[in-house]
Amino acid sequence: MILSRFHKSYPLPDKPGRILLIATRRCAVLELSESLWSRVRSGGELTQKERETFIRLGVLVESHEAERAGMLATFDNINASAKRIELTVTLTLECNLACPYCFEDPFRGHLSMSSETADLLLERVREYMAKGRDVLVDYYGGEALMALPLLKSSAARMQAAALEFGVVFTFNVFSNGVLLTRKVVEELLPLGLTAVRTTLDGPPDIHNAQRPFVSGKGSFDIILKNLLAVHDLVALDIGGNYTRENYRRFPELLDIMLEAGIDPARLKAVGFSPVMPKSDGGVLGDHAATCACGSEPWVIEANLFLRDELIRRGFPVSKLQASACMIEFANDLVVGYDGSLYKCPVFMGQEELRVGSLADGVGDYRKSHNLDLWKNEECLECAYLPLCFGGCRFFRKLQTGAIDGVDCRRGMLDASLERIVRQDLSVGK
Ligand code: SF4
Ligand code: SF4
Repeated sequence: MILSRFHKSYPLPDKPGRILLIATRRCAVLELSESLWSRVRSGGELTQKERETFIRLGVLVESHEAERAGMLATFDNINASAKRIELTVTLTLECNLACPYCFEDPFRGHLSMSSETADLLLERVREYMAKGRDVLVDYYGGEALMALPLLKSSAARMQAAALEFGVVFTFNVFSNGVLLTRKVVEELLPLGLTAVRTTLDGPPDIHNAQRPFVSGKGSFDIILKNLLAVHDLVALDIGGNYTRENYRRFPELLDIMLEAGIDPARLKAVGFSPVMPKSDGGVLGDHAATCACGSEPWVIEANLFLRDELIRRGFPVSKLQASACMIEFANDLVVGYDGSLYKCPVFMGQEELRVGSLADGVGDYRKSHNLDLWKNEECLECAYLPLCFGGCRFFRKLQTGAIDGVDCRRGMLDASLERIVRQDLSVGK
């Protein structure tokens, strides 16, 4: 057995003679003595137990060729064995907020899914379910709760179909929180609601400037009131979009949430991301912020700072995990309000990145989305590959105007991985 390519090790200055080891393929984190580490690296003598542990955690592998073949087949294997289909469904492009950074701004308006398109969606979902697939839907917008009757009928019909075929149907809602009352959550839970992703952009003055109602009025108070009212009922995933100028004030939001009575232990996750620049000179937030992120030094510093502040106050943060762009997962699709299909919510409305329709099915997007962009020597030799897989196609397109290569995260991971892992290890201490 030999040492995997996919690892990073760091000395532990506070613990002389010991090191921190991160096996990135399994996201395993170990603390071990330098002498044991030296034996692992040099192929020295190990006890059977040590050997088994290092193999299980992906630190030792049979050969680099076999490891490389395994990496190359990652998504083929995942896609072939996936039991669940994941759909992001856009019910409406209407929204009661007018966030200046909204990427849907150019095509937002009175456009909602017709009953014919909703029927077609159900037909496709029933086909998946008939093949024994579970279905997870993220209801999305615009503001998904502005289409509540449609959301309820869609979920109820999918739930009935799941019962008929003996599979599981669950759904999440992406909501700005304005209409997220306890009554609404109580109505949606029996239909399969599992989590709500919502947004607070910092303390009231910042949030109200970044996420005003269409009328211009601030939305902070009503959203906080709603989150307080529902956070014991449903898992809340709270995000927020910061700028270089305002991220240091986001801890004020955390204190306001605590003072209002929000119990961090009941939340699913809280995490903040930078408002992203759009290619047209505007800015972009929300959905892309959940996976796209910048590599500029101030963004790295802001992420680490905010993670520290969250952990210090007992808020749950997402842990280090293997991650890849949704485009790699053949069973994940975004359904536009008009039945168009995409591979990422931020590509909605971009004709060249439309991959098909509910009526015609999914076409071949291998070339348009540069599917194998990470299958190059540099990435295959990179310890960060399991955490990156070539980064974000959308972000690359922002930078160069095309999905013509990777969005390399090496600089960002070099600068932050060790601190992220140390932060994770400090949770609960
Ligand atoms: S292109 Fe991929 S990584 Fe980037 S925002 Fe879309 S789904 Fe996320
Ligand atoms: S894009 Fe960069 S960080 Fe990501 S796997 Fe390739 S070389 Fe590594």
